[in-house]
Amino acid sequence: MFQRTLARLTVINSFVFFIIYFLFTLILYGYLSYRLFDRVDEVMRLHASGFRLANGIVVPLEHPIFDPRIFVLARSTDGRIVNPIPFHENELKNIDEITSNIEAGELNTKDYEGHVYRIMRWPYSYQEDLYDSAANFRIESVFVVSIVDSEVQLLNNFLWLIIGGGVISVLGIIVAGFLLAKRAMVPIQEAWEKQQQFVSDVSHELRSPLTGIYSNAELMLRHPDETIREECHRINTIMQEAKRMIKLIASLLTLARSDAGKSDISLSLINLSDVVNEVISHFEVFKEINHISLVATVESNVEVVADRDRVHQLIVILLDNAFKFTPAGGQVTIDCYIANRNAIVSVRDTGIGIAPESISCIFDRFFREDKSRSKNSGGTGLGLSIAKWIVEKHAGKINVKSALGKGTKFTVSIPIQRRHQT
Ligand code: ADP
Repeated sequence: MFQRTLARLTVINSFVFFIIYFLFTLILYGYLSYRLFDRVDEVMRLHASGFRLANGIVVPLEHPIFDPRIFVLARSTDGRIVNPIPFHENELKNIDEITSNIEAGELNTKDYEGHVYRIMRWPYSYQEDLYDSAANFRIESVFVVSIVDSEVQLLNNFLWLIIGGGVISVLGIIVAGFLLAKRAMVPIQEAWEKQQQFVSDVSHELRSPLTGIYSNAELMLRHPDETIREECHRINTIMQEAKRMIKLIASLLTLARSDAGKSDISLSLINLSDVVNEVISHFEVFKEINHISLVATVESNVEVVADRDRVHQLIVILLDNAFKFTPAGGQVTIDCYIANRNAIVSVRDTGIGIAPESISCIFDRFFREDKSRSKNSGGTGLGLSIAKWIVEKHAGKINVKSALGKGTKFTVSIPIQRRHQT
């Protein structure tokens, strides 16, 4: 699948590169050709107006320009070509043919006997000197002819250079297209692999509670005469598994929404101290059951712009983990205070700790250091990914410090001042 996408991307990239090369050289060629002929035309115009005929004699104007490649010719009303500048007379042959079919004011380029001529027909400007009584002719218009062999040669060479360069660079263009396509494929491939992993993790996570529900229901069906009291443990297992599935699906939904950018975060000024105290009160029961002491130091009226429900969820995740991974007799400490314009919530426990090599993975989806232990305590491996997402949505940071066998400390810091956004 990726090979085909890679090939397609390479073709598209190469095509785009080629079009860029083609357009660039086209513009360059057009500009060069325009500049070359524009310069020639300008010099030709100067030649056309650089002399006058006074009583049949050529009188150069002040500061005449001299370009040996340019010929100036005058055509009389009776169709004769008269060269007003004698020193060029023998240099241009077949002048009649070259200047034929050129309308007044027209500029033309003609190929003639191996040479390229640029021809301009210019109306004669000195009306008072139209007639040469000695030679008996009247000037009608002036032709300026320039041999532009070198310009055409230059353009031709340039064209061949472009074509040759194009052929040689095709290989380079394809290689560049391929390399770029390969680079562009890396995040796509990674996202695809992540997605595949995610789907397989989800299937795996959903299969075990479903199997539990199915097998317990089947066992109950085998003993239709048993009372509900007698089947109590099976019903309890079914309920536990269903609860786990509900929790898992709720977490998946949160993450799917966050991935799709449809996260429903609604910010308002909240009293973080109240939220922390509220969550602590819910954990009173855990404290009793698990024989774990809970020490809370909550500064009063810590206010922050945040989504109340999400912050509540975040603290529940951290405290839940602290209780889950702390053996009986341990201690969980929660602090809430303001430091450096940030609201800080830290949750510390004296539990089993996290292995150094696992620290970088704990925020990954479905990561659990000890799968069986986490699962037995209702863990899905999604809690910390959701916690991280919540913190990031509040432009905050979450840090973890842990020592195996000693305990773990999670510290969340959220800027207290933030523009409201949804
Ligand atoms: P779970 O649902 O398994 O708790 P989490 O995403 O919340 O999933 O946590 C991922 C893993 O990080 C846990 O399975 C556990 O291995 C580790 N972990 C998280 N919090 C703690 C903690 N306080 N002490 C030790 N390990 C922890």
